[in-house]
Amino acid sequence: MHSNLFNESLHFRACLLTLLCSALSGCVGIPPDQESVVVTRAQMQMGTLVKITAVARSESVAQAAATAAFTEIRRLEELLSTWIPTSELSRVNASAGIMPVHVSPETLTVVQRAVQAAEMTDGGFNIAIGPAVDAWSVMESQRIPTESELDALRPLVDLQAVHVDVREQTIYLGKAGMRIDVGGIGKGYAADQAVDALRKAGAIAGVVALSGDIKTFGRLPGGKMFPVGIQHPRNYGSVLAWIDLENEAISTAGDYERFFEREGVRYHHILDPRTLQPARSCQSVTVIAREGIWADGLDTGIFVMGAELGMQLVEALPDVEAVIVDHEGHVHVSSGLRDRIRKP
Ligand code: ADP
Ligand code: MG
Repeated sequence: MHSNLFNESLHFRACLLTLLCSALSGCVGIPPDQESVVVTRAQMQMGTLVKITAVARSESVAQAAATAAFTEIRRLEELLSTWIPTSELSRVNASAGIMPVHVSPETLTVVQRAVQAAEMTDGGFNIAIGPAVDAWSVMESQRIPTESELDALRPLVDLQAVHVDVREQTIYLGKAGMRIDVGGIGKGYAADQAVDALRKAGAIAGVVALSGDIKTFGRLPGGKMFPVGIQHPRNYGSVLAWIDLENEAISTAGDYERFFEREGVRYHHILDPRTLQPARSCQSVTVIAREGIWADGLDTGIFVMGAELGMQLVEALPDVEAVIVDHEGHVHVSSGLRDRIRKP
């Protein structure tokens, strides 16, 4: 029994922030120059390792800012976790087919953006996927659901039956048995909100990383941007490419952390909403956007769309870039990133 919020493996995408922290090592809690202090802290939240780096004019402000950011993530976890029976989303799910549930602006925002992400990714992203995610329980049961089992769930994976009433501030799932799962977008949103908390608490720069969902603001003391490594989807621990970020979010969806293998076939946690089988067209999708909510929502949706259609979408969106590793291991880089990424 585990209590992961977003059903995340503890095999976090270590690479992304471990590498960032190594860039910062030697300055944790120590003034790196006359003007600023860098504090880095980590704890388990939302079922994953959360690392927060705060840059401020004094150690006490940096510590307070990091604390405020962790507190904000905990608050969102209590709204959005489907592992917490009293959370707003759990109440929405428990009321499926019965009645609308009044929710906070935060929950409403996540679900609204998720519906928009579904439209943008041609249904690749679909938060109504909950019953299928449960049927697979990739990390818990490691069993392959039968086709008839999945067929029975298919009518429940119906985004048209997710009713968001902005005026009443309610969410209603129209069919009994439906369940929404924000595991594919909620950590990106939490990173955005935690960065706002850092800023409001007086930090002048910082990074919030919920495993592979990372949001940066400002620059390192000394003026350098925050370096982030993109994990290679097949060579565990090795970096595919480096990118420097400033006031941007980066998020990776991959088939290499939460999976099991049976007779040479890899079964992982990103499902194609049409087949309800693990999506097969990519190994990993990394998206860079201004906001974490878009980076996270789009990485999962593009993973389902595949490299060709996914890259077309990225090229059409302003301020969105991507590195896509397709199912054969070929690496596709969006035009706006070609001059920005560095090979290790
Ligand atoms: P991670 O959780 O590893 O950061 P993702 O952002 O790709 O990676 O989210 C994967 C999670 O999203 C799954 O664990 C599941 O809860 C949910 N999910 C799976 N398939 C889909 C899908 N097609 N659309 C929306 N959410 C999905
Ligand atoms: Mg995602």
